[in-house]
Amino acid sequence: MARLIGLNFHGIGTPARDLEEGEAPYWLSRAQFSDVLDRVAASPDPKAFVLTFDDGNLSDYEIALPALNQRGLTATFFVLTGRLDETGSLARDHVKALLAAGMGIGSHGIAHVAWSELEAETLEQELTQSRDVLQELCGGPVTKAGIPFGRYNARVLRALRRNGYRTAFSSDTGYMSDTAFLRPRTSLRGDMTPTEIDAILAGQMPAARRLRRAVGMIRKQLLPLR
Ligand SMILES: [Zn+2]
Repeated sequence: MARLIGLNFHGIGTPARDLEEGEAPYWLSRAQFSDVLDRVAASPDPKAFVLTFDDGNLSDYEIALPALNQRGLTATFFVLTGRLDETGSLARDHVKALLAAGMGIGSHGIAHVAWSELEAETLEQELTQSRDVLQELCGGPVTKAGIPFGRYNARVLRALRRNGYRTAFSSDTGYMSDTAFLRPRTSLRGDMTPTEIDAILAGQMPAARRLRRAVGMIRKQLLPLR
């Protein structure tokens, strides 16, 4: 079991669609993005970093793909199938191109809603229909999910497992294990200072926060009981 650092990105550069409320801070400038990738590529072990992209923004294809290729890095892209082919989001052909370039494709659901808040039937649709659309596009199994807004509970995790997902990427920060079902990531934000980003890349977390994170993750994985 390796201890890895999950770095999660959203949009890069200038958005080509209307942003959701509270979304803007999660967009990075091209310069910020390049800087993070440069540091990952120059680190002693670039494979210690797991790079992911949520939301299926057009910048995944236009900016991230060439930047990753240039540095010999790979990433997994969690796509919202409800936004495929919409302005500012990935088109179906872009998803195929990402896959052909050696990138991973996973589900971020359909409509960008918090799975933990959904009725059972809607949750099931989010997980199965998005998976089916992506499997059709990719011509193979899709077994990774990026949990929207990092909002999950025991019911969400059970539904993911039941529907064939093998890994679920959350936003709990800190290290991830490459054998665990639940894989915490840290979302990078445009308003983070270079010092904050340094600490994330170094895998540093104050002890008090590490404890809060562990307790929070256990609660979310166990509750509700039914
Ligand atoms: Zn998202």
